[in-house]
Amino acid sequence: MARIGFIGVGNMGGPMAANLVKAGHTVTAFDLSPEAVAAAAAVGCKTATTAAECAAGQEIVVTMLPAGPHVRAVYGAPGEQGSVIDAVDAGTLLIDCSTIDVESARAVSASAAERDLAMVDAPVTGGVPGAVAGTLTMIVGGPKAAFERAKPILEIVGGKVVHCGDAGAGQAVKICNNMMLAINMIGVAEGMSLIKGLGIDPAILHEVSTAGSGNSWALTNYCPEPGMTKGAPANNGYKPGFTGAMMTKDTRLAVDAGMAAGVPLPLGAQAQQLFQLYGKAGMGDDDMSGIIRLLQPDLRD
Ligand code: NAD
Repeated sequence: MARIGFIGVGNMGGPMAANLVKAGHTVTAFDLSPEAVAAAAAVGCKTATTAAECAAGQEIVVTMLPAGPHVRAVYGAPGEQGSVIDAVDAGTLLIDCSTIDVESARAVSASAAERDLAMVDAPVTGGVPGAVAGTLTMIVGGPKAAFERAKPILEIVGGKVVHCGDAGAGQAVKICNNMMLAINMIGVAEGMSLIKGLGIDPAILHEVSTAGSGNSWALTNYCPEPGMTKGAPANNGYKPGFTGAMMTKDTRLAVDAGMAAGVPLPLGAQAQQLFQLYGKAGMGDDDMSGIIRLLQPDLRD
């Protein structure tokens, strides 16, 4: 059993840390939010008061932070006081599960390499339900040897673990996945809104399309129309889940990457704008599936 430092125990990191505890590992948690730290303690984590303290003396450090700037700030660089890369023992394995830009993932991995530390980027898909159930898909980038070391830990928090290539490759695959989800989610929201506008029970469309060619993860597992999918944020006032702000970030990462690579993304760009609009309408901290309320304002009540 390993000693694991877990930094960022929010909506996703909290249940992932809980699953590592359940598997018998000794997990020390740190988060800027005292509520998140208290929740981690309640499921059996030890706690630390800084990221460096959380990382020191561990065999493995896992991070689950909001975005690239947070990840860069927490890992820092060798010799930078208070940084994780400076604080860890030689030989500590670093696993960043946050969804961030490919450039930040490569930069942090290069800083880790300066201290000969093995590191993988391992963003996830499967949402909070997958984090709770330990069935996330882990999308991993980094050297093969680091991947092999990380795999047993990733298999606890995830049901499927895929090695995508070198540092940053996990992030590249993840942003494509989330751009597809964003487009799918808006598609489901439009279908659900249209069927109601045509005077037909949305449950009928749900029954037909989950068994038909209009199916998607968004429709089956995370339907934005209330009452269709058990456990979906739509049934709980669009409490996240995965916030609209996070989806705005991920679609922006995809659109930026498309621009850099010269790949046109007309629907990805449209989805990015719609999620930005969702935030401007004051709902960015709600679940991303709540974007349906731009089409059906009555669902806001
Ligand atoms: P969250 O906001 O619930 O959790 C992030 C946590 O990081 C917060 O508790 C915050 O206090 C903490 N934090 C921020 N800066 C910190 C710092 N410097 N030191 C320590 N803690 C810090 O977000 P989340 O939904 O858990 O998402 C985390 C990551 O996972 C994001 O990159 C997101 O894109 C990705 N993701 C989320 C989902 C989902 O469904 N929520 C699904 C897949 C991937």
